[in-house]
Amino acid sequence: MPAFDVAAVRRDFPILGTSVRGRPLVYLDNAATSQKPLAVIRRLERYYAQENANVHRGVHLLSEQATAAYESARGTVAAFLGLKDARGCVFVRGATEGINLVAESWGRAHLRAGDEILLTHLEHHANIVPWQVAAERAGARVVVAPVTPRGEVDLPAFRSLLSPRTRIAAFSHVSNALGTVNPAAEMTRLAKAAGAAVLIDGCQAAAHFKVDVPALGCDFYVFSGHKTFGPTGIGVLWGRPELLDAMPPYQSGGDMIRKVDFAGTTFREAPERFEAGTPDISGAIGLAAALDYFMPLQAAAHAHEQELLAAATERLKGVKGLTIVGQAPEKVAVLSFTLEGAHPHDVGTLLDADGVAIRTGHHCCMPLMKSFGLAGTARASFAFYNTLEEVEVLARSLERVRKMTA
Ligand code: PLP
Repeated sequence: MPAFDVAAVRRDFPILGTSVRGRPLVYLDNAATSQKPLAVIRRLERYYAQENANVHRGVHLLSEQATAAYESARGTVAAFLGLKDARGCVFVRGATEGINLVAESWGRAHLRAGDEILLTHLEHHANIVPWQVAAERAGARVVVAPVTPRGEVDLPAFRSLLSPRTRIAAFSHVSNALGTVNPAAEMTRLAKAAGAAVLIDGCQAAAHFKVDVPALGCDFYVFSGHKTFGPTGIGVLWGRPELLDAMPPYQSGGDMIRKVDFAGTTFREAPERFEAGTPDISGAIGLAAALDYFMPLQAAAHAHEQELLAAATERLKGVKGLTIVGQAPEKVAVLSFTLEGAHPHDVGTLLDADGVAIRTGHHCCMPLMKSFGLAGTARASFAFYNTLEEVEVLARSLERVRKMTA
């Protein structure tokens, strides 16, 4: 593997060279959203300056080219997920919309009174609330696998909660709040053996390591473009094409129809079946540019991030009064922590004064926080463009906060 040149990579991200509050920006809020490389920024500019047209059905050249670029982006997404066939890749607004689509559409077709939906305590609200809504509509029940004190899914408990009533298991590949990497292939195998469908929320995995959907064996996989170095407003739901084709439309209108007649309308198959109306054309093209940029770096980026995680864990353990929340052996570079005597929001505000951007609060994981007896944590989440020097800036800033609040 070639040595990872973090300085060169950083030059690809203009925002990383900026200052906030008079200090060089130390951006450690990557789990909320990632920064964008020039490859994406320039691709969006070129699209709008030279290529903009609506897709599908246009007979003029620009429309044909925009359609080709949009469909080629679908192919890039398929390659990113390790898929040979792009047909199951549906462009959506983000992970939240992808999960809502499955909960609503698949749920309407498959959930009945007495059925169970198995989640885990690690889930983001985006992978809880749509299932609560779907369960209420069907008279089904949400069942939740607990987490261990280290922040891992309790696998024996997960297994024991699976039953012939379990219609679907929906869980995150990686926890946004703690960084835990779940044994997603094993969880999928267990759920499938019990006869359940499986949805994996890959929002926090996609930016950190190679995702191989066929190897996972799941039925649905979702991720958001903006957390994977692409634009906001675009994301992907992958579903097994045969499942998608059998699901009722989620939204209806133009583009998703085969034939419209006041006597009755017929719908297309996936992916168009779930892409009603003009899609986010530039978003899809921008996402493809992000993935094209990221894919060749992926392995080296992962190794660099693991180095950052190890260094930050060691260094932060030395900050007096700091407790790391979530100590699973398999993690991406996310550090959640509390600082004795300081409210997480105060920690975030004081770090901001040093140019360090972190996130504080419940991280859209209220049930997880409750299970740890916490209202919230401070969270530093790294990307491959972060550096060991930035780990040191974070640690020194925390030491300063500690002195001010102790
Ligand atoms: N799932 C996880 C694990 C997340 O971290 C997030 C966002 O933080 C989401 C789902 C929702 O993603 P989005 O807001 O892009 O739809």
